[in-house]
Amino acid sequence: MQIRTRLTLLFLLLSACILAAVLFGVHWLFKKNTEETFFQGLDSKIELTAQTVLTNENALRPLAHDWIAPEGDTLPFRENITVFDNSYTRVFSMRLGAVPVSFNDLEEIYQKGETRFKHFNLLALGKKINTQAAQYVVVAEGYCDPVEVENLRNILIYSFLIGMVLVALSGWYYAGKVLQPMSQIVNEVERIQPSDLSRRVATSGSHDELARMAETFNNLLDRVEQAFQMQRMFVSNVSHELKNPLTAIRAQLDVTLQRERAPEAYRKALQSVLEDITDLTETEQKLLQLARLYNSPQNIEFSPTRLDELLWQAVEQLKKQHPDYQSSIEFGEMPETEEGLLISGSEPLLRLALLNLMNNACKYSPDKSVRIHAIFKPNGAHIIEVIDNGPGIPEAEHALIFEPFYRSARHLTVKGTGIGLSLVKSILTLHQIELSVENPSNGGTVFRLIFP
Ligand code: ADP
Repeated sequence: MQIRTRLTLLFLLLSACILAAVLFGVHWLFKKNTEETFFQGLDSKIELTAQTVLTNENALRPLAHDWIAPEGDTLPFRENITVFDNSYTRVFSMRLGAVPVSFNDLEEIYQKGETRFKHFNLLALGKKINTQAAQYVVVAEGYCDPVEVENLRNILIYSFLIGMVLVALSGWYYAGKVLQPMSQIVNEVERIQPSDLSRRVATSGSHDELARMAETFNNLLDRVEQAFQMQRMFVSNVSHELKNPLTAIRAQLDVTLQRERAPEAYRKALQSVLEDITDLTETEQKLLQLARLYNSPQNIEFSPTRLDELLWQAVEQLKKQHPDYQSSIEFGEMPETEEGLLISGSEPLLRLALLNLMNNACKYSPDKSVRIHAIFKPNGAHIIEVIDNGPGIPEAEHALIFEPFYRSARHLTVKGTGIGLSLVKSILTLHQIELSVENPSNGGTVFRLIFP
């Protein structure tokens, strides 16, 4: 069922309940009021009878109990006033032929002093009247014409039906009007294609729910567009990164094969090709890690890892890969227990991140050295600083260096892929480790890691 129909039906049901309750109340009050007025009339008649008939008590005589309807009389549907003495004997009646009041009703009037009751289809009021000499029961009864109440009931029923038709029409109209911006948003979103992600849903500028929904859609589109752009950039950068070494390999092989050469020349050419292939493999490994971090971070397993061991392992690996690089580790105050050194994380990834930072530090420093400073905190917010004596990183590049494939124009002659720091950033973000860069006043660069 469409929301518009559902809203209209809901509105109709609600209005029907409220209107029916109000109209029913009006009908009930009117009926009650009419009866009240009628009983007030009967009461006046009783008072009048008491003042006229009961002033001359000696003249009151028992009347015949049996009644005979006179010719053409429509009894008992007639008004009547009857007086009974304390032995329930009828001593006065305006209509001799009227059906007398039952013994039970008289008994009740005597006990309660005043009772309203129904006598056939007549409404009756009975009252106990005390005179100086005796007690009497005076009963006044009459036909309360229901025509006014019935008329009102019919008017109310018609009003209810007309009201419901109006409510259904207006509900349908307003539900359509309220939902119109929503349909507009749906139409606009449907028009957005992957080839044109710059389109956005029009926002009304108000602060209502629909404006918020449009804004949410736009925010989602911002993120989708960003992701698409990232992906496009990634693909074009990857192909560029692969193209350059492949072109170089091809050119070297072409040149080498152009003529017959000495074995030494072949060896040199193959050595150079091997180096290019090693670089390519390294790039491919980094890309694979980056893709894994982007695509399925939830599959990466965390385990308790000793931070000091991690640093030693990274330093060792650096030494193995680049025997000419120098590294040193300074530990601040060591924790008392081994638990104080433990962090939760993926050991291979954290080692890779530290290795990349150390590698860069040595690569970009003239003295090819890196200094690690580790400060252990009792609350686990350990700090690791990777310090070098290199040229430093200009402030303007601080945000850029973590973008995939970003390489500073100052270092284009240095071998590199531009993936290292983005990989470091992704790994540290996954571990909720804060990473910042600083250029100390005495030169060089400090990469600071603050553990959660
Ligand atoms: P790559 O080193 O392969 O170029 P990275 O992502 O590791 O890629 O680094 C990005 C850029 O950040 C580098 O091109 C370099 O300009 C700069 N950079 C990284 N580390 C340092 C450092 N320790 N000192 C100076 N510049 C650095």
